[in-house]
Amino acid sequence: MPYRSAWMTDELDAFRDQFRRYLRAELAPRAEGWRKAKIIDRDAWRGLGAMGALLPSVPEAYGGLGATFATEAAVMEDIVAIVPELGTPVSVHSAIVAPYILNYGSEEQKRRWLPKMASGEMIGAIAMTEPGAGSDLQAVRASAKRQGNSYVLNGQKTFITNGQLADLVIVVARTGEPGAKGISLFVVETAGAEGYRRGRNLDKIGLHASDTSELFFENLALPPENLLGGEEGQGFVQLMQQLPQERLILAVGAVAAMESALDVTIDYAKQRQAFGRPIIEFQNTAFTLAERKTEAQIARVFLDWCIERHVAGELDTVAASMAKYWCSDRQVALIDDCLQLHGGYGYMNEYPIARMFVDARIQKIYGGTNEIMKMIIARSL
Ligand SMILES: Cc1cc2nc3c(=O)[nH]c(=O)nc-3n(C[C@H](O)[C@H](O)[C@H](O)COP(=O)(O)OP(=O)(O)OC[C@H]3O[C@@H](n4cnc5c(N)ncnc54)[C@H](O)[C@@H]3O)c2cc1C
Repeated sequence: MPYRSAWMTDELDAFRDQFRRYLRAELAPRAEGWRKAKIIDRDAWRGLGAMGALLPSVPEAYGGLGATFATEAAVMEDIVAIVPELGTPVSVHSAIVAPYILNYGSEEQKRRWLPKMASGEMIGAIAMTEPGAGSDLQAVRASAKRQGNSYVLNGQKTFITNGQLADLVIVVARTGEPGAKGISLFVVETAGAEGYRRGRNLDKIGLHASDTSELFFENLALPPENLLGGEEGQGFVQLMQQLPQERLILAVGAVAAMESALDVTIDYAKQRQAFGRPIIEFQNTAFTLAERKTEAQIARVFLDWCIERHVAGELDTVAASMAKYWCSDRQVALIDDCLQLHGGYGYMNEYPIARMFVDARIQKIYGGTNEIMKMIIARSL
């Protein structure tokens, strides 16, 4: 019997059938254009919103489907399999940015922002990283100083996914003393915001359709209610609370990419002939695929266990870090092997495996580098 994730339901199956059809028919044909333009058009975001694929786990009262994280995972798997260009931008928007507003925003903020994010009318970004502060997030220098009845935000961020299009940016800034306790999160609505400036859309080796930007804040005035949670100094705790889901969604993308790479490579190895037979008949090819298939299945089972725990509200940071580190590490290694089995065609951009190869590499770096994941796991030993 084929393996089926325990978190799948018939209802989710029906949703996915429709969603996959939509992705294949409406969005996949546009992906090459996005890669060339180095950005995804707003219309695609609205289309995803209309399908219920943005913020599905947000309650219906705020425009979502009121589903669990299982639907977020299912959406991500289908996106990675069919239109991988959307994977990083959508996971940041839906699974990373929206939960901050849902969990720490006021009722008025949730009603103002979440329905528009769910419909794709507003695009979300999160700005943690700075030129001088990546892994060491406590070193952030962006500052928000209280002046009269507002906060004044100054600083520079870099590598921000969705930075070019973002209508709403969650910004990590310092409101107090050095270290974790002086950090707070602010929401910046970018439309007409004086003192907000987008830098260039950075030139990357992969993820060509996903825009990545520098952002600048120069004396940007924010009303006090844009401080998430309403209390200064909570930012680091809020970030830590959201990390398991952020890491899990990256692992979901990693395993879906492994499965997708195997599918295209097995097909290719059955068709490609050398020395008078399909290359899958060479023992090296078959054994490589057998080994990688085994790893992908192990990754799938561990990931599904993490998803089930997360749906039950029981996923801890250590397990989420294991999932992010191991699945992304295996993703990169597996895709490298799959590319090798394509021979020279694997190096050609027109073959999906070539794009999977360059797109995979970032997975070991963003969302907390895999070295940081190992530090977290090591601390628990
Ligand atoms: C395409 C892309 C999209 C991104 N999207 C976003 C986004 O939307 N929002 C956002 O805020 N950021 C984003 N980032 C930033 C990303 O999260 C950071 O690049 C990442 O956290 C690493 O930080 P850094 O680049 O400053 O590297 P550094 O922290 O300088 O790390 C350099 C190397 O040193 C290692 N290292 C650092 N500290 C330790 C340690 N204590 N022990 C062992 N090794 C260590 C790291 O693992 C790494 O190998 C994105 C980056 C890219 C490239």
